[in-house]
Amino acid sequence: KADISGISKAMDYSLRANINKNDEIGALSREFNAMLGMIESNNTELLRLNAELTSKHQKVLEIQNELQSANAELKRLSEHDPLTGLSNRLALEKKLEQAWEILSRTGDPLSVMLADIDHFKLYNDRYGHQAGDDALKRVANALTEAAQRKSDMAARYGGEEFLLVLPGTDADAAMEIAASIRKQIIAANIEHDRNPVAPFLTISIGVSTVIPCSDLTMRDLINAADMALYQVKEKGRNNFGHQVIETSAE
Ligand code: GH3
Ligand code: MG
Ligand code: MG
Repeated sequence: KADISGISKAMDYSLRANINKNDEIGALSREFNAMLGMIESNNTELLRLNAELTSKHQKVLEIQNELQSANAELKRLSEHDPLTGLSNRLALEKKLEQAWEILSRTGDPLSVMLADIDHFKLYNDRYGHQAGDDALKRVANALTEAAQRKSDMAARYGGEEFLLVLPGTDADAAMEIAASIRKQIIAANIEHDRNPVAPFLTISIGVSTVIPCSDLTMRDLINAADMALYQVKEKGRNNFGHQVIETSAE
């Protein structure tokens, strides 16, 4: 008797009633034992299914983690230039749009800087494409260091052209940054004995600044930087210059 009353409390369905009478109580206890057998095997099956579910859930979690890091990697690849690790054109366009929208509300200036390696074709011709790639990486590193604020962005704009986006940076501050980048590239002293400008690698930088408004677009800003760069190239390279943006009202 004691064993029967203990069964449900212990939830041990392997126990059996120990009554061997041939009367109704005996018949009931045999029925009871048969039911216990069913409960026991159902219970075993439930436990097995539960373990299976737990391990499947674990696998789903693992796959979810893998997907998450694959997605992060995809996002990184889609926004960066593989050679230099800088932001690519796609990320740049997004960044410019965001900066334009925010700054046209706050009324703060937006500066951009177009940096182009001088006589880089001659560098490749003289030192080879692999050395050219290494030089690009070194210039990219200097630009990354120059983009100090969290909101700044250094991007690879084209082959040997880079664009720096400097939200909240006015013309004077942008010119200071341009000057320090130029200095840093010179200090890196990357040999370029075919460079007509100097015996080392040099860059030219065009800067432009705007307070974003509806009269202007990002295109105007970049065109102005391009114009400034063009003038620096014309005047002999290895320098930086600033271009004021003409509004249609002027
Ligand atoms: P400038 O001073 O007028 O800018 O002269 P440049 O020779 O730098 O300009 P140009 O546009 O004539 O040549 C750009 C060169 O940049 C040509 C191309 O071989 C090189 N270039 C572009 N992308 C890469 C790259 O990913 N790796 C290497 N190694 N070279 C590249
Ligand atoms: Mg060039
Ligand atoms: Mg160029």
